[in-house]
Amino acid sequence: MCGIIGYVGSRPCEELILGGLERLEYRGYDSAGIALLDDDGFRTVRAVGNLAELRKAAGAPVSQATMGMGHTRWATHGRVTQANAHPHSDVSGRITVVMNGIVENYARLRSQLQDQGVVFLSETDAEVIPHLLARHDDGDLVAAMRATVAELEGHF
Ligand code: GLU
Repeated sequence: MCGIIGYVGSRPCEELILGGLERLEYRGYDSAGIALLDDDGFRTVRAVGNLAELRKAAGAPVSQATMGMGHTRWATHGRVTQANAHPHSDVSGRITVVMNGIVENYARLRSQLQDQGVVFLSETDAEVIPHLLARHDDGDLVAAMRATVAELEGHF
């Protein structure tokens, strides 16, 4: 079972998110990652193994980001690799996602997206989500999320 933590607020949140993931360690995981929204976009760091590896990969916490998220992964679809660790992004890098659970119909969605020219960077079921969100996003992210969830549930 994976763990997810997110923060939106006024404090620099890198340490807050890493500390939060440590509190979720008891749930078990095989890899982990964080994404912080800095002035020039998302900074994503992922690592295989325990959170000490993620801290090592992230380096000294210098980010002033006040919005971010973290994920501990328990792989169900795709090997335990850095590329398969969450967060996952759309092609533009504007949308970044972590997910807990399984996208049951991901194979069909993945091949539809590939037919439309989307290049996947991981083997996970989760990566369909940022690409679907990007395709549905015309400025209303809530509507894009609703349309994406409907697709994940196989409604169209
Ligand atoms: N199915 C997703 C994956 O394999 C998420 C697994 C989890 O809940 O950690 O990446």
